[in-house]
Amino acid sequence: MSNVLVLNAGSSSLKYQLVNPVTSEVLADGIVEKIGEDVSRVKHEGVSVKVTRDLQIADHAEALKVVLDLYEDLGPRLSEVGVAAVGHRVVHGGPTYSAPVVINDDVVAGIEALVPLAPLHNPANVTGIRVARQMLPDVPHVAVFDTAFFSTLKPEAYTYAIDADLAKQHHIRRYGFHGTSHQYVSGKVSELLGRDDLKQVVLHLGNGASASAVKNGVAVDTSMGLTPLEGLIMGTRSGDLDPAIIFHLHRVAGMDLAELDDLLNKQSGIKGLYGDNDMRKLETDWYAGIPKAHLVMDIYRHRLTHYVGAYAAVMGGIDVLTFTAGVGENDPQLRLDMAEALSFLGFAIDREKNAPRSKEARNVSPDGHEGPQVMVVPTNEELAIAQQTVATLDGIRVDLAD
Ligand code: AMP
Repeated sequence: MSNVLVLNAGSSSLKYQLVNPVTSEVLADGIVEKIGEDVSRVKHEGVSVKVTRDLQIADHAEALKVVLDLYEDLGPRLSEVGVAAVGHRVVHGGPTYSAPVVINDDVVAGIEALVPLAPLHNPANVTGIRVARQMLPDVPHVAVFDTAFFSTLKPEAYTYAIDADLAKQHHIRRYGFHGTSHQYVSGKVSELLGRDDLKQVVLHLGNGASASAVKNGVAVDTSMGLTPLEGLIMGTRSGDLDPAIIFHLHRVAGMDLAELDDLLNKQSGIKGLYGDNDMRKLETDWYAGIPKAHLVMDIYRHRLTHYVGAYAAVMGGIDVLTFTAGVGENDPQLRLDMAEALSFLGFAIDREKNAPRSKEARNVSPDGHEGPQVMVVPTNEELAIAQQTVATLDGIRVDLAD
């Protein structure tokens, strides 16, 4: 009975996956979208079934009931394959949680207390936890935090240069996000290269995007900050900008806080620059030679180059640059251009190894290349959450046995 049901509750969605953390086998997964709207959509995929259903789903409790019914009707039946635990993705662990934790009422209250730090994400995560604990009361539930991997950052990396008392009072510091992915990917790189003593930069480039510097397996810097808005250019988020732009827009364009929040989180990034947050469109237009697509790609890449160089400096060198997530895994041209831009650091790429799309983790540097390596490692946050869920529960069993 070693399967873990991994749940990722968003404000109007519920992603789920039943996975064996030892074999990595996915028994069935899916997503419920547009919860609370007139028509919600459920996509469920098992080993031999794939269904999409449009239903009316009022809230997350109904969504989870629909998911549990799908497992019952289409399989695999949870009672037959067994569920050892439920692993919940929680976006913000704040200053409170630096590792996964077994959920009890205090933990739910603790995650809820962090809502001011993550008003867009933590409320949905709490709702997901509440309904899942009600519907699956007989298995342990574990919260795995997106921020936890970056709890090792030193003060010089996590401190913002603002009034220190104000920052302390309101818990303002760099937390970092996508930690589960950066931890999983950097761990895979160490495993593949057979070395723990590596200076790694991981670029998680999806709709959300972040960079991390990982030295000897420990995170030392990351591009996202108090919230997931800082850092790289993303699908709809601006990433780094001069904070005075906010005051300026307020003054000259009369924009209020809500409008500015929406602008920077939802209407900026690739969408703001190119009108669509899907990088595939930008990539297609880049290949077609459309000048604006080239300009936007140059802007995107410039920010990436800036961060890789900065992190090489922070770590005193770089051994591996790894690409992951939707864009990082699927855009060979971007990897090629990055390796070229960073050739002064000793990077090189093998075009034949780099070109094919693959779900396998791989080294795309030339055979025998002695400088820093370029890798592509597909991320697997659900598997990582399942593995951390089991490790957390095993740790407690070991503590009890001591
Ligand atoms: P993720 O957030 O990791 O699911 O990644 C989503 C992003 O990956 C979207 O912007 C997609 O357009 C992008 N993506 C997926 N396939 C490709 C591709 N072949 N080339 C460039 N971007 C892609």
